Amino acid sequence: MLWDIQEGKCYFCGNSIGASVADRSYELDHLVALSNRGTKWPINLALVCKKCNQSKYTKSEEEFWYSLKKLNGIEWYRHRMNVIIIIHKGKSKAFPGQKQNCQLDEVVGYIYR
Ligand SMILES: [Zn+2]
Repeated sequence: MLWDIQEGKCYFCGNSIGASVADRSYELDHLVALSNRGTKWPINLALVCKKCNQSKYTKSEEEFWYSLKKLNGIEWYRHRMNVIIIIHKGKSKAFPGQKQNCQLDEVVGYIYR
């Protein structure tokens, strides 16, 4: 399900995470870390490439977006944020009632920062 919502692309960088979900060339990221009261509900999960998972490490989602923005520039970042809004809406629709850790409002807030 997450695979379809993310269209087989890494949640953060947007690169392909394999030809199909069976490839399992992605890793699972808890957007809000379990140690920071994040949940294991799908709404808090994202499929990410190995590179992003490694470089995110202990960073929060917001901190990691900030570092990606610095690396790739504002135009790239705005484009990614538009995709992220669609992903969050897709997750809310696919997993209704799971509002925990849904950061859509925060993500929208990131766009013009
Ligand atoms: Zn990535």
